[in-house]
Amino acid sequence: MNDCLFCQIVQKRIPAKIVHEDEHTLAFDDVNPQAPVHVLIIPKQHVQAVGDVRETESGLLAQLLLTCTKVAKHKGLALSGYRIVTNTGPDAGQTVFHLHLHVLGGRHMTWPPG
Ligand code: AMP
Ligand code: ZN
Repeated sequence: MNDCLFCQIVQKRIPAKIVHEDEHTLAFDDVNPQAPVHVLIIPKQHVQAVGDVRETESGLLAQLLLTCTKVAKHKGLALSGYRIVTNTGPDAGQTVFHLHLHVLGGRHMTWPPG
């Protein structure tokens, strides 16, 4: 989708600080970090939110999670820990409608989230 911000990052038409890239996923630093480490992991193909992944494409979810763990290790979070979040729809506060997983770490986080 041409007017999608994250599709434009995939196409390198909008700059981002890319942390990891492979055939199906891309990871880049969040522009407004909420923790010392805050990386977004996205599928290269446009999917609006986690609930829109079809059963036939379920392997994509595994690939996204594996990229999250690679990024977390690369950023030195394997021992200290990290949080993986995906906001879906209005109650969760989703603002970009291209599926993305947040990897947050480098500080202690409270539960429940706000
Ligand atoms: P969400 O609120 O879960 O939809 O998350 C969207 C995230 O995208 C927010 O954390 C924003 O800071 C982040 N964001 C928005 N625009 C950009 C951009 N151009 N590059 C990197 N991160 C962005
Ligand atoms: Zn998109």
